[in-house]
Amino acid sequence: MFTMVNGLQNYSEQAIQAARYIGQGFVVTLDHMNRLPMTIQYPYEKLIPSERFRGRIHFEFDKCIACEVCVRVCPINLPVVDWKLRKNKRKKQLKSYSIDFGVCIFCGNCVEYCPTNCLSMTEEYELSIYDRHELNYDQIALGRLPISVIEDSAIHTIPSLTHLAKGVMEGHSNSRSITKFVD
Ligand code: SF4
Ligand code: SF4
Repeated sequence: MFTMVNGLQNYSEQAIQAARYIGQGFVVTLDHMNRLPMTIQYPYEKLIPSERFRGRIHFEFDKCIACEVCVRVCPINLPVVDWKLRKNKRKKQLKSYSIDFGVCIFCGNCVEYCPTNCLSMTEEYELSIYDRHELNYDQIALGRLPISVIEDSAIHTIPSLTHLAKGVMEGHSNSRSITKFVD
């Protein structure tokens, strides 16, 4: 008799424990149902990069004084600055400028230290290419203004979704900026 009561007691304790685990599982499921997906359907949807996003570098040829500070501060001495000395003016004249984005680590040092602010980071991140040598941008390619996903007429911004609030790291329970191609 005592063994049977003991067995029943164990059985009921295990049933309660199992019910608790199932309840916890449902709580987790419900919590996830309340969240936004973390993935987007790229390239049909695009995230708008944050204001301080470090994308492809933009270069203004006319502002460059060929000082080569960008080369010295670059961890891999990447920018190639070709110049000639104009003896009559005792001044360097820039001939060509290039950065190889196949090697660049987008650290932003060159942009930070350029004395004439002729370098800037853009929000352009679509740099995939079939031939890596095409990532070696000369001054003409570097001088091209970035294509903004917001200004792209083929893409529609979803207004109800906004950037994460300042200091918020969790994307799940917060809305985000997403753009979509218009059908
Ligand atoms: S630091 Fe700026 S001004 Fe100097 S060479 Fe580089 S890009 Fe030109
Ligand atoms: S972003 Fe960094 S790695 Fe790229 S060119 Fe500038 S300093 Fe060099």
